[in-house]
Amino acid sequence: MKHTRIKDLLNSTKTLQEVNAKGWVRTFRNNQFIALNDGSTIHNIQCVVDFENTPEETLKRITTGAAVSVTGNLVESQGAGQKYEIQVVKLEILGDSDAEKFPMQPKKHSLEFLRENAHLRVRTNAFGAIMRVRSVLSFAVHNYFQEKGFVYVNTPIITGSDAEGAGEMFKVTALPFDNTPRTEDGKIDYKKDFFGKETNLTVSGQLEGETFAMALGQIYTFGPTFRAENSNTSRHLAEFWMIEPEVAFNDLNDNMDLAEDFIQYVIKYTIDKCQDDLKFLESRLTEEEKQKPQAERSEMALLEKLNFVLENNFKRVSYTEAIDILRDCAPNKKKKFNYIINEWGADLQSEHERYLVEKHFKCPVILFDYPANIKAFYMRLNEDGKTVRAMDILFPGIGEIVGGSQREERFDVLVEKMKALGIDEEELWWYLDTRRFGSAVHSGFGLGFERLVLFVTGMTNIRDVIPFPRTPMNAEF
Ligand code: ATP
Ligand code: MN
Repeated sequence: MKHTRIKDLLNSTKTLQEVNAKGWVRTFRNNQFIALNDGSTIHNIQCVVDFENTPEETLKRITTGAAVSVTGNLVESQGAGQKYEIQVVKLEILGDSDAEKFPMQPKKHSLEFLRENAHLRVRTNAFGAIMRVRSVLSFAVHNYFQEKGFVYVNTPIITGSDAEGAGEMFKVTALPFDNTPRTEDGKIDYKKDFFGKETNLTVSGQLEGETFAMALGQIYTFGPTFRAENSNTSRHLAEFWMIEPEVAFNDLNDNMDLAEDFIQYVIKYTIDKCQDDLKFLESRLTEEEKQKPQAERSEMALLEKLNFVLENNFKRVSYTEAIDILRDCAPNKKKKFNYIINEWGADLQSEHERYLVEKHFKCPVILFDYPANIKAFYMRLNEDGKTVRAMDILFPGIGEIVGGSQREERFDVLVEKMKALGIDEEELWWYLDTRRFGSAVHSGFGLGFERLVLFVTGMTNIRDVIPFPRTPMNAEF
């Protein structure tokens, strides 16, 4: 008999004869009530076992974590809390689960403990909800761009260019560690390596993406990205997923419009599709916030916060205006910041970004026109000669969620900039070709998918929104 997903059973509009459900036992109460979950929804279905006519041996095997198949009738529930339940006629244990040993006991576990059991944490309510939301969000990403006619491009994961400078790279090599081939001057001889040159895992698909935008017009990437940055924060992963649209003929304002519209679309899409999961995550967050002192609690509940982002324009503020605000703000004057803002040109730390978003503007902020010397080489130099057409989008509770820019389309200006920074022109010959042949204004940005998932789920540590996080000293699973 084919089983029906629990979500569909719970959404039934009428009682049903002879249904079958398969799933994992969450709890078994009074030797009679199984809360069964199959991952299709946050909700369990209650299965009522006829314990008087079920062998004691079988009843003992209905334990938290066990896989079971129940066949019976879908009837209106007598109990509170659910509309329907299954009156079990036949119960089969598919896979036992030793109640003494199964780590996911029906009680509150610490997030740290759950991370150590990432292969099983997805069987909890919270992680089931997070992973369903993540899945829907990623579909929304594709939907948005596909509806607008963007071409999805898979840029290489193993890259031969290391000039982007977005972060520390992981080397890719097939050379042996002992008797590593060396050149005469003792350096590693990459000519003898698999690709005949030095290669790395990608830190960004942007440069390759630009070449495609200069042919296909509007493109996006959505793929894994790797950074060997040893920053053990709640916002950095060594392996994360990045979304990078790149659009020919877009200037920085178009780029900001695109980013804002995109973020609002995917959040709206997910609110519409994930009501139950988001309601659950909202109550989870509210509970968690009760542990915090009043002053640190967020003023809005999760769904209210998401709706706020949909209903309000992102505040667009130039770097120069931001510096003025920061220089004069109380935490700067009282030396509460770790890095005191004294003058124009200072790089903004996350404490400053969060002050702007959470305390000053109290809404998402787009900062633009940054000093050239704190941003990447490919960003379009402004007429003032000292700022570039860069934009970062800052979100409450998250900090930077998007980094983007209008790209330097002028061959001479770009080459001069590369020279000044010691970036090898020879190596980026193919990138420079986009400026040699049919160059045009174009813009794009990178959005860290996990930071978006953090925002939408209300989780606070990036390790909890990706199935198997990779961070310094951790690559279990
Ligand atoms: P940060 O200052 O937070 O390290 P960044 O300036 O290095 O970010 P970009 O190089 O502009 O970031 O990358 C684009 C986006 O990718 C960022 O806005 C962020 O959302 C995301 N991102 C960057 N590094 C990481 C990381 N290590 N883990 C997860 N997401 C990241
Ligand atoms: Mn970084």
